Amino acid sequence: MTTIRADLISPLDMFKIGIGPSSSHTVGPMLAALMFARSIAREKVAAGAYHLVIELYGSLSATGKGHGTDGAVCAGMIGLHPKDADADAVWQAKPDLEKNPIIASGGLNISFQPRDDIHFLGWTIDGKPLPHPNTMRFLLLSQEGKTLLEEIWLSVGGGFVEAFNWTEGRIYSKQHGGEGVDLPYPYNTAAEFVGQCQASNLPPWQVVIANQERRGLSESNLRSALDEILDTMDDCIERGLSTEGILPGGLNVRRRAKHLYEKLKGESPPAWAGNDLRPSVYAMAVNEENAAGGKVVTAPTNGSSGLIPAVWRTLKEAHDLDRTTLQNGLIVASVIGALVKVHASISGAEVGCQGEVGTSCAMAAGGAVAMLGGSVNQIEQAAEIGIEHHLGMTCDPMMGLVQVPCIERNAMGAVKALNAAALSLASDGSHLVSLDKALAVMKQTGLDMNEKYKETSTGGLALG
Ligand code: SF4
Repeated sequence: MTTIRADLISPLDMFKIGIGPSSSHTVGPMLAALMFARSIAREKVAAGAYHLVIELYGSLSATGKGHGTDGAVCAGMIGLHPKDADADAVWQAKPDLEKNPIIASGGLNISFQPRDDIHFLGWTIDGKPLPHPNTMRFLLLSQEGKTLLEEIWLSVGGGFVEAFNWTEGRIYSKQHGGEGVDLPYPYNTAAEFVGQCQASNLPPWQVVIANQERRGLSESNLRSALDEILDTMDDCIERGLSTEGILPGGLNVRRRAKHLYEKLKGESPPAWAGNDLRPSVYAMAVNEENAAGGKVVTAPTNGSSGLIPAVWRTLKEAHDLDRTTLQNGLIVASVIGALVKVHASISGAEVGCQGEVGTSCAMAAGGAVAMLGGSVNQIEQAAEIGIEHHLGMTCDPMMGLVQVPCIERNAMGAVKALNAAALSLASDGSHLVSLDKALAVMKQTGLDMNEKYKETSTGGLALG
């Protein structure tokens, strides 16, 4: 639950190209490790021999092995970035370090044996409660064991990371910037966003574009980055639709998207395909790729990465939507994700799955309405429906893997998003519960939720 304003979170913050299976447990820790590696370089540590220890706390410890957190921090420490790195290279980093436990760079020889030097710890750090359920500490030690450099990082969901300092309190990482810039259309709530769109008479995506341009991100750069995101989403669907086999991790979950897709394409589709199953199959294709540690787009998280690509592809096929419209949809969806991030949470470890699949459903519903020509009131209504009907949904992944219930949750969420969009488009946009109210309820529900249902694999379906 962050302190940044919603209008400072750009579409490129909400949609990040990364590695599966988890944005909070894979992408975030990988980025944090990369930041620590850069700190070592920045601090100009004298050439010599050192030792590295990485401590994973809370939910990162409880489900980190299933989510590949240990492999992700290894990849970050050797300088790989989740956006640019090849997925195979990311997962090769840990076995390589286990064989040759030295990170050598800039005259430093840092001994680091992942088997011994990554510690999975509990819910306190130095006897104090964790600052966040997903906390990690990086320690660079001298050969005598003296701490030379120490950083605490929090993975706060959706691949966002924050540095933490005990004396100064939480510090927002440099992922955003732009504080202090006077935006042409400031907003921090859904009501304010709707108000800015109506007062300016601009389409909702144009309000965001104007704000981003003031922050230095031109429309052409934003659109070309969104194109790359759309391509990555499409590639992910295609890989998922053409790959079969058992997903890694030990749960023996068989991939289903390819088989289902082939049945749907057949000359006589089976009776179960009577209701269009394509959005569900597209979503499953992406989430199977995510579960296999492939390249995906956090939307807003990896666990919920299938829903938006599925809805976008379904609407593109049904309505022949052009690239600009698809980009506009992503921009609007990002506003909804930013509002959830600011006023509730997009982290399963903080508020359960309502923050991941629930948020993604709201984003997809609002984005769908925007792409189909709905008003800003209808966008807000669709997003509210998407959130409202996921309130209270827990995060209880079996064996800590992002497979069961996650893959089917995206399939169901895609259908709900399309229904939410249709319900709002069929109305005049007036409704009883506002999106702002639903987000306040979501936050409180998350605070009230028992910890065992917040990505700890200690309750619910996780118990088998
Ligand atoms: S249950 Fe939901 S929140 Fe938890 S890991 Fe799966 S998709 Fe993410």
